[in-house]
Amino acid sequence: MTLAEPAAPPASAAGDDLLALNNVEVVFNDVILVLRGMSMAARRGKVTALLGANGAGKSTTLKAIAGLLHTEDGEVTRGTVHYDGADVTRTAPDRKVRDGLFLVMEGRGIVQDMTVTENLRLGAFTRPSANIGEEAAEVFEFFPRLKDRRGLAGYLSGGEQQMLAIGRAMMAKPKLILMDEPSMGLSPLLVKEVFGIIRRLNTELGLTILLVEQNANMALKAADYGYIMENGKVVLDGTGEALADNEDVKEFYLGGGERRSFKSVKSFRRRKRWL
Ligand code: ATP
Repeated sequence: MTLAEPAAPPASAAGDDLLALNNVEVVFNDVILVLRGMSMAARRGKVTALLGANGAGKSTTLKAIAGLLHTEDGEVTRGTVHYDGADVTRTAPDRKVRDGLFLVMEGRGIVQDMTVTENLRLGAFTRPSANIGEEAAEVFEFFPRLKDRRGLAGYLSGGEQQMLAIGRAMMAKPKLILMDEPSMGLSPLLVKEVFGIIRRLNTELGLTILLVEQNANMALKAADYGYIMENGKVVLDGTGEALADNEDVKEFYLGGGERRSFKSVKSFRRRKRWL
């Protein structure tokens, strides 16, 4: 585990890394610098968690990876994003979906006035030859609770909508799923269920998952590896287990009270001086 400056990942996502960001800088509206040298990697076949307080730059990182910054007048001004061995820093988002990179948005992004099956069909939009019936049946096997929901998606509970959003991602036959705050707005019981599903997507379907979360406790239990972001870059990284056990992480996330800057957590500063 790295305690101060994280080791730079390899320049390209080849071999073990399905995804790698190398020193990525993102600017909005030509002036607002949000990512400041963001480097991280997602190992093939593993679950990686990206954690950090509000405004650290987690969602911006996912948008940079998915190629969705331009919709908000943002752009990658420095650094590279590599996916499956290729430089995709400036690749169009629909091309990335076709290549198996799928973002499940915060707030789920499902179409409320469409049915469950119609929403699933949307997930397969890049694959005209998809056998929707057969593939939807596979999704229903994974989420039996969705199977009998015949009405509009807007009538589903929060947990079911999250399952539908994940099911829609499955219809795209992805290699890498990016998930933005899947636990947001869900009850503790449902959070547990959703994280169980994330693990099953990984173990049963072999999907690589990059998870953005504020719920560090659950995310680190589910993740093989984690990164903690602050101010547009990584300040700490390590295995899920090591991070969950790390005193600074515990103090920062589980200490209660106001969240301070991660860099101000005492032992982090103390140890940083030793390095
Ligand atoms: P949260 O959990 O609150 O979503 P986050 O870590 O995902 O936090 P981001 O949403 O990536 O953080 O935002 C990081 C910073 O970038 C914030 O200060 C935010 O105000 C700024 N930001 C995000 N999107 C834009 C935008 N389109 N234009 C200008 N600034 C933006």
